[in-house]
Amino acid sequence: AKQGGRDNYQIFKAEMGHQAARDFDHEQDMRKGIAAKDQFFMVYQPKVTADNQLVGLEALMRWQHPQEGLISPADFIPLAEESNLIIELSEFAILTVLEQIRRWLDSGYEDVTVAINITGKHLVSGTLVPYISELLTRFDIEGTAIEIEITEGVLLTDVDRCIEVMSDLKSLGIKISIDDFGTGYSSLSYLKRLPIDVLKIDKSFVDDCAISLEDGEICATIINLAINLELTTVAEGVETQEQLDFLVAHGCDTYQGYFFHKPNSAQVIEKLLQRVSTLV
Ligand code: C2E
Ligand code: MG
Ligand code: MG
Ligand code: MG
Repeated sequence: AKQGGRDNYQIFKAEMGHQAARDFDHEQDMRKGIAAKDQFFMVYQPKVTADNQLVGLEALMRWQHPQEGLISPADFIPLAEESNLIIELSEFAILTVLEQIRRWLDSGYEDVTVAINITGKHLVSGTLVPYISELLTRFDIEGTAIEIEITEGVLLTDVDRCIEVMSDLKSLGIKISIDDFGTGYSSLSYLKRLPIDVLKIDKSFVDDCAISLEDGEICATIINLAINLELTTVAEGVETQEQLDFLVAHGCDTYQGYFFHKPNSAQVIEKLLQRVSTLV
């Protein structure tokens, strides 16, 4: 047992060293990638009604690493958040989305709402609202064309500050969603105080909603809460007809998931958008 413990410790140490080295490389690589301009890009995933009518898009970041290939934001966003790189990446996301919306408007597509994920660090940085507001003016885009998604956990840090920034965003016409809802520890008392519009039910509850009583009950409870607070619900990660049927029966408003559409490039997603006028 003693020998085993020692081996485990050695392995543990080796893994720690490896992990630290990788993280360090990635931070350097991220800086290079941002400077190179062509490694980070946005894909878009539709949000739809139960009968597959488009209600909006979510912008999701991708990193095409020159050696390691495509890296998931679930891996590089947390890392970026340890430094100020997150602000640069987040501003890149906002800029890219607004440029894309301007192109779609210029091509005669009907108004489309695009949700952008914002981490806690950027939300409370003091630079988010001026940055967005300047770009909306520069591109002549209404605030109602974008939505901000904030994960529930972020609210734990400083509720009053979050409410302040959210209110500033709302006054620009921007809607606010609570992402991954159910995974954080929101107290219901302050959920009521937040100037939010949408609850996104986390995929982890959607996965088994039709086969697990507990997960089904959690989804139903979140939907009821949203109805009572007059918020819209989005079910994340819907993959099957059974999940959809369950969620529809319980009154969920909108859906996002591979059952309907995977995230894709602006060019592919564009085919789902409607032209305002056939004359264009
Ligand atoms: P999220 O905001 O909760 O986004 C939903 C994630 O679920 C996306 O993963 C999406 O591709 C995935 N997804 C959607 N439908 C399905 C489905 O039916 N099945 C499965 N298996 N997955 C589905 P993605 O794109 O890997 O993003 C992961 C997380 O990274 C996002 O979770 C978000 O928190 C973060 N992220 C992505 N882009 C950005 C960004 O531009 N800025 C920031 N700050 N965070 C971002
Ligand atoms: Mg999101
Ligand atoms: Mg989410
Ligand atoms: Mg999620």
